[in-house]
Amino acid sequence: MEWDEFAHWGKHISDWAAEYHKTLRDRPVRAQTAPGKIAAQLPTAPPESAEAMDAIMADFERIVMPGITHWQHPRFFAYFPANAAPPSMLAEMLVTTIAAQCMLWQTSPAATEVEGVMVDWLRQALGLGAGFSGVIQDSASSATLSAVLTMRERATGWRGNREGLSGQGALRIYCSDQVHSSIDRACWVAGIGQDNLVKISTTGPRHGIDMEVLRRAIASDRAAGHIPAGIIAVTGATGIGASDILGPVLQVARDEDLYTHLDAAWAGAAMICPEFRNDFWADVDGFDSIVFNPHKWLGAQFDCSVQFLRDPQAQLNTLKIEPEYLKTSGAKVTNFSEWTIPLGRRFRALKIWFLLRAYGVEGLRGRIRNHVTWAGELCERIRALDGFEIVTEPILSLFSFRCPGDDATQQRLVDALNDDGRIYLTQGMHKGRKIIRFSVGQFDCTRDDVMMAAQVIDEVWKEIA
Ligand SMILES: *Cc1c(COP(=O)(O)O)cnc(C)c1O
Repeated sequence: MEWDEFAHWGKHISDWAAEYHKTLRDRPVRAQTAPGKIAAQLPTAPPESAEAMDAIMADFERIVMPGITHWQHPRFFAYFPANAAPPSMLAEMLVTTIAAQCMLWQTSPAATEVEGVMVDWLRQALGLGAGFSGVIQDSASSATLSAVLTMRERATGWRGNREGLSGQGALRIYCSDQVHSSIDRACWVAGIGQDNLVKISTTGPRHGIDMEVLRRAIASDRAAGHIPAGIIAVTGATGIGASDILGPVLQVARDEDLYTHLDAAWAGAAMICPEFRNDFWADVDGFDSIVFNPHKWLGAQFDCSVQFLRDPQAQLNTLKIEPEYLKTSGAKVTNFSEWTIPLGRRFRALKIWFLLRAYGVEGLRGRIRNHVTWAGELCERIRALDGFEIVTEPILSLFSFRCPGDDATQQRLVDALNDDGRIYLTQGMHKGRKIIRFSVGQFDCTRDDVMMAAQVIDEVWKEIA
């Protein structure tokens, strides 16, 4: 492709993008396609000769678009949001254009230096102490794996990487029974093993880790000759928003000399609003590692996950490797690939820079506050529907409910709502019962979009009941 042709299509696609976003409300949120239908429309073998860009673009609209679930639809209330605010999309285009590998300072000094400053801007925006530095990773899963590996190495006296894990004893990691599956997988691939991830029951209105049970579990593990290695706490777990009370968790970690990691992948964004910090983040500065995803609620296009570290040295001791071909001569500089598992790195910090400057932290706060308020209002409307039950009260902008009937009926309502297409919801499990989750947070959603959900739920329920 010649660059003049590139410029033509680049303009076409950015016009297409604006039009797509302006007309999103008219599309069904969840793709309405049957399994296999998209693949069946593609040739089974690659083309031998060149094809014209208009043919490729036409097929994109004809074949691909009907198979897209619209995550940027203002009535996307499923999972958690994956917001891509327009300034972050523009930054992403620049990042793609430059296509630099940002593994070392010298492979793009601006990427490393902007990243350092953006992590610090976000630290301030979240009200974290000045002691934290950090790194931008692809996903919370990777950041959590980095933290679990650090727990492992610290607990084995830094022998795991060198000697392997056989004969190191059973390393134990503690968390609540509400944590995200990325914590399980981090323990699988770090060689800790599922059986050594000790899940503690939860208690209280925020469904936080039961401290008594935690202390007893650690004591009995020590008595059995196991090696406690770390605690993973959560603020805003995926199922219902479960949030641990951080101070007591940190006290146990100090008493037991355990490394601590906090998963605030979704709810971390809300901590830009000072009024939520007392309830959710008191004492947060005591954590060794904290992960939060600007690519969820905040508005930085996926992928963009920030891991804050109180002292990066432990993670560097775990992950840093420096073959000759990666050495930098001269001045002492930060090489962020030494902080993470992958070597290659995208220039993710540019999205944060564009996003924070284009809205200001106050502009982003306004959105999050609206979402929390509207979730509360909608919760009351659903509570008022005949026979409906609120199962878990709103935690920030997430709550869960049930319609009248058994578990199968809950799923039938979710499926019928998603087939209807005006809104998109997903189900979950809480205390052995199926629940319907409602999560507010799409960047462009309005109060009308959220309130409309109560009416759609009522209508669709009456059709299937
Ligand atoms: C989304 C989420 C994750 C996983 O995030 P990725 O960036 O997709 O790996 C982990 N924990 C919580 C609480 C989440 O909401």
